[in-house]
Amino acid sequence: MPLDRCADYHMHSAYSDGTASVDEIAQSAIQKGLTTIAVTDHMPLPFPTRYAMERELLEDYRREIETARRVHGRNITILAGLEIEYIPRHRHWIKEIIDQGWDILLVSVHGIVTDRGHFMVNGRKDEFERTFKEVFQSDIRAFCSHYYQLIREAAATGWFDVAGHLDVIKKHNQNNRYFDETAAWYRKLVRETLEALAANGMKLEINTNGINHRHGATYPSPWIIREADSLAIPLVLGSDAHTPERQGQYFNKIPDISG
Ligand SMILES: [Zn+2]
Ligand SMILES: [Zn+2]
Repeated sequence: MPLDRCADYHMHSAYSDGTASVDEIAQSAIQKGLTTIAVTDHMPLPFPTRYAMERELLEDYRREIETARRVHGRNITILAGLEIEYIPRHRHWIKEIIDQGWDILLVSVHGIVTDRGHFMVNGRKDEFERTFKEVFQSDIRAFCSHYYQLIREAAATGWFDVAGHLDVIKKHNQNNRYFDETAAWYRKLVRETLEALAANGMKLEINTNGINHRHGATYPSPWIIREADSLAIPLVLGSDAHTPERQGQYFNKIPDISG
């Protein structure tokens, strides 16, 4: 299947950590020539973060998407979505939100919750370092193994449509500072995770926001995209835009996959 470059399946409004209203997002997407967007704000979490939606706003969020659909539905397809955080100990909280019914659910791992709190994976460098040292005693293999294990567990629930920024654990890995993506152990983790996505009928997001980060590549890396394609995992594009200007960012730079 060729990539649909007019569909952007990942973006944030001011309901979580984006800047614009849902209506502004819809208007801007139409101007950019997008034909489908998924509004995928960060789900509410049962503990404070700087990025998640407040639980009390969830109903308003759904209503605003519904309104945008009524107003702009002739010009664009708007999917009501969420970027779900997979945290095993908060499974019931997550499921309750999922059960409200959504058009599309991305699943991402942004943090790891232990008895000592919430430790970021894809936050700032100092936050990554803290997780690396305090949770994993500077063992990068243990860190990566745990990270990909969470994604496999998420896939196995059968709750999700799309895996978001699959290898975001590489966010601070420019110049192989922490690990070598070509190492056999890392490739095996990724392979097993892709197999879990395939086994559960999930799609894989090509997240173009990674191009703005220091390592300068999509999430996931091109070799992972090719491997996913060889497993017949459907690929979708996501800008992870937090401002309307970034919707559809770099979509034309992503090469077509052989198919
Ligand atoms: Zn994310
Ligand atoms: Zn996002």
